[in-house]
Amino acid sequence: MQNSSAGAANEEPTQGQSTRPLTLEMLKPRVLSCTQCPLHKTRTHVVFGEGDPDAAVMFIGEGPGEVEDRTGRPFVGPAGQKLDEVLASVEIAREDIFIGNVVKCRPPGNRVPSRAEMEACMPYLEAQIALVNPALIVTLGNTSTQWLLPDAPGITKSHGTFLRWRGDVLLFPMFHPSYLLRNPSREKGSPKYLTWLDIKKVRTWLDEYAGSENA
Ligand code: URA
Ligand code: SF4
Repeated sequence: MQNSSAGAANEEPTQGQSTRPLTLEMLKPRVLSCTQCPLHKTRTHVVFGEGDPDAAVMFIGEGPGEVEDRTGRPFVGPAGQKLDEVLASVEIAREDIFIGNVVKCRPPGNRVPSRAEMEACMPYLEAQIALVNPALIVTLGNTSTQWLLPDAPGITKSHGTFLRWRGDVLLFPMFHPSYLLRNPSREKGSPKYLTWLDIKKVRTWLDEYAGSENA
């Protein structure tokens, strides 16, 4: 007989606590209907994140912008096009990584999300990281870097360095693509120039990781 409480059979039994999702697809509808912080009032679409649910690398931005809010997809506006360019320069396909954000709803006017908003949304990012289980997290910009690693130096210092997150996971900060849009110079030492060096390090890491997985 069919269980009338749809979904219950797919979820892990817990002791009194809310049930824990076992896949990203099970988590998604909860996030899409979330009203845990005031950003829900002004959003058009929740931007859950997308990509390979088993990705070795997860990219984490700050929060949706205007085009993301309109489409419900991460990094598809101007910053997303810049991110695509950076990824394409080392032949990393969006399908092979997971792309998410610290907050899933757009902060009005693209302001930085507040601490309370990031805290309210953190269980979803925590769940996404736990489910994707990446070996490397690439944080885009200061907000996501310092949210995950409060003691990390500012992005001008921390970008391009492999840090550790909760023991095993590597965390690699990069400049936010919006920052690159505001700083178009390609001269030696510019944010763009440095980003091209940084993404090459991600490529090298991926190649070595793939090699060690196949060994
Ligand atoms: N900026 C972000 O931080 N995330 C997006 O998804 C888009 C722009
Ligand atoms: Fe919920 Fe996160 Fe959206 Fe706030 S930003 S309403 S916590 S999904």
